[in-house]
Amino acid sequence: MMETPNYQPLERRKVYEQIAEQLLAQIGSGRLRPGDSLPPERELTESFGVGRSSIREALRMLESQGVITGNGGSFAVADVANPLNSSIRLLFALDERTGMHDLFELRRILDCEAAALAAQRHRDQHVREMDAAIAEMDASLRADGRGDRFIDADLRFHIAVAEATGNRLLVHSMQAVRDVVRRALTTVFVIPRSPERAVVEHRGIRAAIAAGDPARARQEMFDHLVRVETDVEKGSAGG
Ligand SMILES: [Zn+2]
Repeated sequence: MMETPNYQPLERRKVYEQIAEQLLAQIGSGRLRPGDSLPPERELTESFGVGRSSIREALRMLESQGVITGNGGSFAVADVANPLNSSIRLLFALDERTGMHDLFELRRILDCEAAALAAQRHRDQHVREMDAAIAEMDASLRADGRGDRFIDADLRFHIAVAEATGNRLLVHSMQAVRDVVRRALTTVFVIPRSPERAVVEHRGIRAAIAAGDPARARQEMFDHLVRVETDVEKGSAGG
């Protein structure tokens, strides 16, 4: 007799996932093309007959998958659909020998070299974007302490560093790792003082980049990521 596989019970399908799927279908069919704006949030809320939070969650999910890009509250279909994104998530799920440690190592390789290049190549606009991301992290801690707003701002900072290199492939690769990292960061957010330390560390990275010091930028980024990884391990060990 064949042994019955030990499947997990299925989760009820979430509303935001169904919305994201339908928007994805619109893009896949070509009804929405790269660069096209998505309907505004309130229009989507009416069309789907759901709450605003479900629409926001769906948009956030598509954005983290690199399918759409946000700009001041409005969204457009991304110019380049990023196949790396789903590939990395798939590899992570399929290859059971890959673990969080591999993910963080990959992230360290990308982010540290990105920081060094950013120190050499950044323009003023990139430093302003880093500042905006840091301010947003800080504001979210003071306001409601909501994890997802903080984590979005944290990732926005790292993407700003990638943008400053001018290397589009690096931006795409970091965005691809971002979705998987996001889950780990949710763990870190609840560790006491971890988010506050991230703000301080980001300021250090930003200062080194703005000063045009590649070695220091690389080191500051390295220290930041090693600290975050240590906190993730502590978080998982604590359940
Ligand atoms: Zn960070």
